[in-house]
Amino acid sequence: MAQVQRMSRLMVKTLRDDPADAETLSHKLLVRAGYVRRNSAGIWTWLPLGKKVLDNISRVVREEMDAIGAQEVLLPALLPKEPYEASARWEEYGDLLFRLKDRKGGEYLLGPTHEEIFTLVVKDQASSYKDLPVMLYQIQTKYRDEARPRSGVLRGREFQMKDSYSFDTTDEGLAESYRLHREAYQKIFARLGMDYRIVSAVSGAMGGSASEEFLAPAAAGEDTFVDCPNCDYAANTEAVTFALKPVEGAEHPAVEELDTPDTPTIETLAEHLGVPASATLKNLLVKVDGEIVAVGVPGDREVDLGKLGEHLAPAVVELVTAEDFEGRADLVRGYVGPQGLEKVRYIADPRVAPGTSWITGANKEGKHAKNVVAGRDFQVDDYLDVVVVEEGDPCPKCGTGLKLDRAIEIGHIFQLGRKYADTFQLDVLGQNGKPVRVTMGSYGIGVSRAVAALAEQTADEQGLCWPKEIAPADVHVVAAGKALQTELALEVSEKLGAAGVRVLVDDRAGVSPGVKFTDAELIGVPQILVAGRRAGDRVLELKDRRTGEREELTVDEAIARLS
Ligand code: ATP
Ligand code: MG
Ligand code: MG
Ligand code: MG
Repeated sequence: MAQVQRMSRLMVKTLRDDPADAETLSHKLLVRAGYVRRNSAGIWTWLPLGKKVLDNISRVVREEMDAIGAQEVLLPALLPKEPYEASARWEEYGDLLFRLKDRKGGEYLLGPTHEEIFTLVVKDQASSYKDLPVMLYQIQTKYRDEARPRSGVLRGREFQMKDSYSFDTTDEGLAESYRLHREAYQKIFARLGMDYRIVSAVSGAMGGSASEEFLAPAAAGEDTFVDCPNCDYAANTEAVTFALKPVEGAEHPAVEELDTPDTPTIETLAEHLGVPASATLKNLLVKVDGEIVAVGVPGDREVDLGKLGEHLAPAVVELVTAEDFEGRADLVRGYVGPQGLEKVRYIADPRVAPGTSWITGANKEGKHAKNVVAGRDFQVDDYLDVVVVEEGDPCPKCGTGLKLDRAIEIGHIFQLGRKYADTFQLDVLGQNGKPVRVTMGSYGIGVSRAVAALAEQTADEQGLCWPKEIAPADVHVVAAGKALQTELALEVSEKLGAAGVRVLVDDRAGVSPGVKFTDAELIGVPQILVAGRRAGDRVLELKDRRTGEREELTVDEAIARLS
C-alpha cells in the first residue's frame, strides 16, 4: 500500500510568478511549485513535496552505498575547533566556516566536510589491520558560508551532503575503495536520471592525489568543463591546465630564471630582459621557485612569437598582471609547444558579465578560485597560475578541438592518501606486528543540490518534470469536474495506492480544471491521470508529462498500466 496524498490536505501553495530574486530555472520552479521556501540567504525550508524528492534521492544514495559495503553513521554537525586547527583547515577555509562559541568561550564550527572527524572516529575504533578496510558514510547537513549563495538550493549555506570516507592499509586498497565509490556513483546518477560526466579534477584545498568530479551539464552550472568530441577526455578547466603542465625532468634549456622576491610583473620581467614593457615584447615565461608559472601578455592582440619563441619551454602557462585584471572580463592564455610559444591571445568569455573574470587558478598554497571577480575577491598577486580554456583548444589526448560547457558539480571523489592520517597519526597494527599508517579516500554527493540539478536538466516551459525514481509521486490524478469526477479520481487513487503506486490526487473542491492542469504540469509528476469529461463512462485520460502524449483508458486499464 503506497501513499495516496490528497492535494486538498497537502501543504502546497503554487505561485504563478517567478520569485523576484530567482536567476536559475530550478530556483524559480522549485519555489513556484511549492517544493522549497527561502528562509534566509542560502538557507531553505523543504516543504512536503520537496522533502519527498530529497528523501528519494537519499534513498537511492543509501541503497548504493550500502551495496558496496559502506556503513552509515551520523556524526555531529557542531564540531570543536581543535581537529580543524590540527589539519590547518580552521585557517585555510577562511570566511567559509561558520564559527561559534559556547557559553564557556569554547570555540566550535559547523561542519563543512568531515575528514578530520571521521579520521578520529576510525582512530578510536580501529586498532588492527583486521579492522580495515572500512568505508563509512553519512547523509547530513553541512554548513558553508558561501560568498554568493544564489541559485536556490544549488548553492546553499546549509545543505545536505552524502559524505563517505574510506580507510585502507595499502595503496591498492585505497584504489579499490575509490573504484567501488566511482561505480556506486555511476549507478546512483543513472538511477536518478541524471545526465552527467566524470571529469578529472585537481584536488585543491583537500590535498591528495587522484580526484574526479561528477558534473551535470546545465546552463545554470557554475563550473566550466571541457569535453572532447573525439575521445573520452573530459576535464574541468583546472585539470586541463595541469594536464598540460611541463613534464618534470623535461628539458627547458632556454628558460631564464629571474631572481626576484616579489611576484614578477610584466614590467620587472621586461626590465630584466632589457626591453621596454610597452614594446611589442609582450610574452614572457616566468619561473618561480624553479617552477614555470606564467607567461604574460599585457596587450589584447595576437603576439608575434618570432623573437621570444625560442626562450620558451613546452608548457601552457600564463600570467595576468593586476593592471590587466582591473575591470576586465578577459584573460590571457598562451600555448607553448615544441615550436616555442605557438599561440597567445586574450579570451573574453561572452557568458561572463562585464566586470567579472571567469578564471580558475591555483595560488601558491594550491587553493583554488573560480568565477570570481578579480580585485574584489582576491589579490591578483596571490594567483600565479591563472588559466582559461576556450572552446576549440586542442584536446591534450588527441588534439581534437575541445567543446566547452557549463555544469553543476554533483559529486566529487578523492584519493586523499595519508594527509589526514599523518595529521592525526592514524595507524593500525599491521600483519607483521608493526604499526601501519592508514590511507584514506573521501567521497561527496550534493544530495540537496541534486534536486536542483535534476530540475535544471529535466524541466520544460510548463514546469518541473521529474524522472520516475525521484518524483514526489508516480501518478498525479486530477479530478477535473464535479462530484462524479472527484469520486472516480479518489476511487482510482485508492486502487492504485493499494497496488503500490504512489499517488498525488487533486481532489480540491472549488478549483477549476484549468488551474489543476497547470498545477499538475508545474509539479511535474511523470504521469497525469485525469477524471474528466468521460468520468460517467468510467474512462480516464492518461497524459505523459514529458511527451504530452494522451490516451483514454478505462479504470481497470489505467490501474493495470500504472501498477
Ligand atoms: P563547489 O565547487 O560547487 O563549491 P565544492 O567542490 O566546494 O563544490 P565539495 O567540497 O567537493 O564541494 O563537496 C562535495 C559535494 O557537495 C559537491 O560535489 C557538491 O555536489 C556539494 N556541495 C558543495 N557545496 C555545496 C553548496 N554550497 N550547496 C549545495 N551543495 C554543495
Ligand atoms: Mg565550494
Ligand atoms: Mg568544486
Ligand atoms: Mg568539489
